Amino acid sequence: MDEYQTKSFSFDVDTVMEQSAKKFKADKMSVRGVLIRIDSTDSLCDQAEMISPKSPNILKSEYFDTVRTRGETSPSPMTISSTTIDGDALMLPNEISAPYEVSQFPIEQIERKLQIQRQLNYKAMEDKQSLAAEVHSDDDINLDEHELVPHFQRVSISGEDTSGVPLEDLERASKLVIQALELRERYMSASNQSFPATTARFLKSVHEKTMSDEVQHEDKRTTAEEYRNTNRRRPKDYSVHAPSNIHDPWNIEFPPNLGYGIKSVNGVFNVFKDEECTENVNYPYCKLDTFVADMQTMCAMIADGPLKSFCYRRLSYLNSKFQLHVLLNELRELASQKAVPHRDFYNIRKVDTHIHAASCMNQKHLLRFIKKTLKNNADEVVTISKGKAMTLADVFKSMSLTTYDLTVDMLDVHADRNTFHRFDKFNAKYNPIGESRLREVFLKTDNYLNGKYFAEIIKEVAADFEESKYQNAELRLSIYGKTRDEWTKLAKWAIDGNVYSDNIRWLIQIPRLYDIFKTNHLMESFQETLDNIFLPLFEATNDPEKHPELHKFLQYVIGFDSVDDESKPENPLFDKDVDTPENWKNEDNPPYAYYIYYTFANMTVLNNFRKERGLNTFVLRPHCGEAGPVQHLVCGFLMSENISHGLLLRKVPVLQYLYYLSQIGIAMSPLSNNSLFLNYHRNPLPEYLARGLCVSLSTDDPLQFHFTKEPLMEEYSIAAQVWKLSSCDMCELARNSVVMSGFPHKMKHHWLGPNYTREGVAGNDISRTNVPDIRVSYRYETLIDELSNIFNKCGKPH
Ligand SMILES: [Zn+2]
Repeated sequence: MDEYQTKSFSFDVDTVMEQSAKKFKADKMSVRGVLIRIDSTDSLCDQAEMISPKSPNILKSEYFDTVRTRGETSPSPMTISSTTIDGDALMLPNEISAPYEVSQFPIEQIERKLQIQRQLNYKAMEDKQSLAAEVHSDDDINLDEHELVPHFQRVSISGEDTSGVPLEDLERASKLVIQALELRERYMSASNQSFPATTARFLKSVHEKTMSDEVQHEDKRTTAEEYRNTNRRRPKDYSVHAPSNIHDPWNIEFPPNLGYGIKSVNGVFNVFKDEECTENVNYPYCKLDTFVADMQTMCAMIADGPLKSFCYRRLSYLNSKFQLHVLLNELRELASQKAVPHRDFYNIRKVDTHIHAASCMNQKHLLRFIKKTLKNNADEVVTISKGKAMTLADVFKSMSLTTYDLTVDMLDVHADRNTFHRFDKFNAKYNPIGESRLREVFLKTDNYLNGKYFAEIIKEVAADFEESKYQNAELRLSIYGKTRDEWTKLAKWAIDGNVYSDNIRWLIQIPRLYDIFKTNHLMESFQETLDNIFLPLFEATNDPEKHPELHKFLQYVIGFDSVDDESKPENPLFDKDVDTPENWKNEDNPPYAYYIYYTFANMTVLNNFRKERGLNTFVLRPHCGEAGPVQHLVCGFLMSENISHGLLLRKVPVLQYLYYLSQIGIAMSPLSNNSLFLNYHRNPLPEYLARGLCVSLSTDDPLQFHFTKEPLMEEYSIAAQVWKLSSCDMCELARNSVVMSGFPHKMKHHWLGPNYTREGVAGNDISRTNVPDIRVSYRYETLIDELSNIFNKCGKPH
């Protein structure tokens, strides 16, 4: 309804402007700006007259001349006010209306806006200079956030009860929300994944005892060490360019063999001090029954009526508050962006936080690559079919195709209207020309040529990223869990093909395909998939020298993703008596939560093991909430550092609010959703962004969804057009993408500024991120307000 009204309103204005413009064209020469003068006695269109704004003075005198003559005959309210200041007119630059009037002519409004902007620009520069002066006068800068708080118009609500729900409801809601946050914090800290410092601080205030100051990530340890140095170094001392990587990316240290034993206990690998597996090292991990109980607690919570209302209201409030913030501060934000030299949206770092390697090139690129390969390598044997070797030329002959015939239409990899809600059809699009053989030859790491072509095309994509310099991607490679040597083959593929780029990191996607393996008699029980996926990782951690390729490859792996069609029917809830992986022998696929739990639990032990060895740790970043039951998002909330999609959060206010409070990264791909699950205009991204959820834009599958050479830019561009995102919004999305990405601390340091791990404005460096301090400050203060609102109510006596 609202949307309709706005549309019809803007339509009216457009018509008026259009008519005025037509009239103007008939009357005068074209000018850059127009002034519409309105006479009260005549209709708007008839009297609209344009005067060239050659300079404010000319404009003014022309205007006042006419006003004077007219004013004698028909004094309208407007002309009266103008005539009264007539005498001072020459002394008042840039003003036509009286100074106490709200400017009412378009040209005045534009002038006024520009003037404000100039003032703000000037102020922003001044602020920067004074800050710089402070920095220079004092060597020991204390980057205390209080000193950096920018000036802007704050939206604040005063009064005793500000939450809009009865006090008892608020107290109850607070308790539940805190309980949920504690759960997540426990899961995150157990698995060495990150939890936002601000929220952790509030939690700490409630439960001093349960918290430890231990630094979790290997990256965070570096951060902590650098804190002291950072305080003495000026931000300018840091180069903006990330240190270009070592000449040989595969040259790393090999820790000695520990000789530990590794054995699965109820589906989770445990580490033992001896090879006979008697003395357990006891790395802690969450047991299945604890997880089941926590899931049940969370599921009861998201269905709780009063809590739902509470969260819904808070989210609505956050939305409205943001609209007000933008209304009041848009100009200031823009001004501070303009005041930053060199930096703009094009040269800030962006990470494509969700993209699959097998579809990271666009369709034209793949077509060009296939044609090129067919031309140059026609006689290369690429596959074995029915015991007979087939060259690339044979493969195309069997399809009766020549290079000349090939077109993008024939390739038929693009998603179209027929893929909407048809994940099966979408999956089939991965096969060029509908031939799984071509997919195998060109888009797989494990084939007759050991993924030679795939390595080449990925390197071409990486070269494009490097050329654009500011774009990076986290490509998903598959480990199916079908055989034990998948990891070694994958690592070999990367090392032999030298598939490495500073702009690329790997995420390992695990498709949920147990049922297919089982029906094809490839395995006995679910435990075998777990063995195939995790055992090689434990072995490579235990004895890197025995698994050199894997050890080298793992340093560029960020974490795990879980993929498949979420809308497939499943029983989302299971209890603690569910079959263990050894006993899961039926042909049904285990539910989403089961997959995620075993990935999480094994990753937890693995991370503890690797951390102790001084090796990099992994995070869990599954596809979650794209479709299917909302319980998937509960799993995501408990166990994953970030998720991809999160569309269904729009239906579950409690979870959405919790995702906000714990600032869980959500990599959203509206173009992908538009082809598969949700029309573009219904995508919740703008709402999430307004409310302050940590969202980023990503492409998912450029091969299927995008048309241009720079799919990530295409994604940003369409979002900006459709949702009218401001430059500040876009830069905020880009900054979020870097923050939530798994690129190493060292790189983020250079991309976001040396203090990026700090809370609030202190962590922002506008000269690198192009995000105004005002925006960062707004987000931070708003989060603090929300957290205070909740934590103040908890534990207070009635
Ligand atoms: Zn995806």
